[in-house]
Order: sequence, then C-alpha cells, then structure tokens
Amino acid sequence: MRSLLASLLFLLSSTHAYAAPLKVVASFSILGDMVKQVGGDNVEVGVLVGPNADTHTFQPSPDDAKMLGKADLIVVNGLGFEGWLGKLVVAAGYTGQIVRATENINTLALDTTRNQDPHAWQDLANGKIYVANIRDALIKADADNESTYRLNAEKYMNLIDQTDAWGRAEISRVPVPKRRVISSHNAFAYFSKAYGVAFIAAQGNTEESSPSAASLAALIDQIKARSVHVVFMENITDPRLIMQLEKDAGAYIGGTLFSDALSVSGGPADSYLAMYRNNITTLVAGMLHNPPAP
Ligand code: ZN
Repeated sequence: MRSLLASLLFLLSSTHAYAAPLKVVASFSILGDMVKQVGGDNVEVGVLVGPNADTHTFQPSPDDAKMLGKADLIVVNGLGFEGWLGKLVVAAGYTGQIVRATENINTLALDTTRNQDPHAWQDLANGKIYVANIRDALIKADADNESTYRLNAEKYMNLIDQTDAWGRAEISRVPVPKRRVISSHNAFAYFSKAYGVAFIAAQGNTEESSPSAASLAALIDQIKARSVHVVFMENITDPRLIMQLEKDAGAYIGGTLFSDALSVSGGPADSYLAMYRNNITTLVAGMLHNPPAP
C-alpha cells in the first residue's frame, strides 16, 4: 500500500514526464507531416486541409474553427496560400502564435503577377528551411523539449539531404532535352528551378475551373511545337483537362503527381519525403517517353 501511494505521489509530482502534448494545427497535410517529424511524441498535430484536398479553394467548417480555438500554435505556409486563414482565426477566437513556415525562403514570382508563388515545399532545400522554422517555433512554445526538437529536426534534415541527392541522381538519368512536362496547375516552379525540369501548367491556378478554348488551343499547339509529349494529372485537380490533352494532342499521360497535398495514409505519398520520391519516380518514367529533341 505504501509503495502504491509512493508511486501515485511520484506520478503527481513528475508533471514534466506526463505533460500534455503541445497542440499544433497545421494548415495543410504536407506541413502537418513536417510538424509530426520534428515534434514527435511531444506534439498532437491537427490538419485543416487534409489528404488530396486543395488548399487554394478550401472552405473551413465550424469544426475547423473549433480545432483552431484549442490550439497552442498554428503553422501555415504563407505567401498567399491560405487566403481563408484570417477569417478562420477570427472565427476561432485564436490569439496565439502563427508561424509562417516559408520565413527566410527566397521566393519566386507567380507567373506574370506580382504575387509570390506559395509552392516552395517542392524544392527540398526549401523543405529544410520549413523544418528549421517549425523547430524554432516548437522550441519557443515548449522550451522544456528543446533538445528533442533539435535532434528530431537534425535527423529529418539529414533524411531530406539524402532524398534530394537520390532525386538528383534519378533525374540525371533523363537526357536534358527530354526534361519537359505538362502538369495541371502551376505548382512546380520551385521544383523546376531546383531540379532542371521544365514545367508547363495547363490550368494555371486551381481557382480557375478550366482554361478558355483559346488558351487550350494554344496549349495544344505548344505541345506539338515543343514536342512535349508527357502530361501529368495531379492529386488535387480535376483530371479531365489532362485527359483532353491526351485525346486532342496525342499527349502521353505519365501518371499522377502530388502537388499541394499528401495521399491518404498508406497511399504512395503519405509523407513529405514519400511524396517527393513518388513524384520523382513518376516524372522520370514519364519524361523518358518524351521524344529525344524538340
Ligand atoms: Zn497549388
């Protein structure tokens, strides 16, 4: 009996070991995975825009506001990706810290507009900056576990480096003139710059339901003129436009790329690095179908 009492007293006094996890809400699935990797068991991660869902066109529900209202920390991409966030924060009554994972990233302009391109995670070097920002935010919110967050982030960054080196080696198997593809929306500018693959976005923004007849005709001409043969669907976009390019321009469908969201758990892209590996493998196999030179 005495030992049971002693155990109970020990449990009550060692609050540190039994501290409730830090409640972190990430705006979309890719960020949610990064927070889990760095936070480990010390964090409980909620995700607003889930697997295969489009953050650009997301419409928050009352349940999302409820989850946000209970959060200790919010991690967002920023760069205009979460246009709905401001209203949601007000609706949730959230007054805590909002961390922008793209802080300190060299941003690219979005197409011909003066807006910044939000899809910075598609370059793994930027992914490491995301991880550093998440690590620093977790340390600020939960200093007791600083050493764990530092160790987790370091291990994760090493894995990112290894995956980046693997990806570059894979792409190097594709002759340079064949490294050009068509995707659904404009999510791959950072990827293109980092890994030397030319992307044409058939649709532009996902907010646009479909291109005009004139821009579709121009795209088909472009496919023919530049001999871009391979087109890719995306997990967050309607596949019909890409299928039309196959039908009308004789393009080859190379499969599905994961652009702005992970797959469901157990799917081919259920973590940030699995997504990257899956995209590289899909792209390389597809690009090898391109004709040798335009
Ligand atoms: Zn996007």
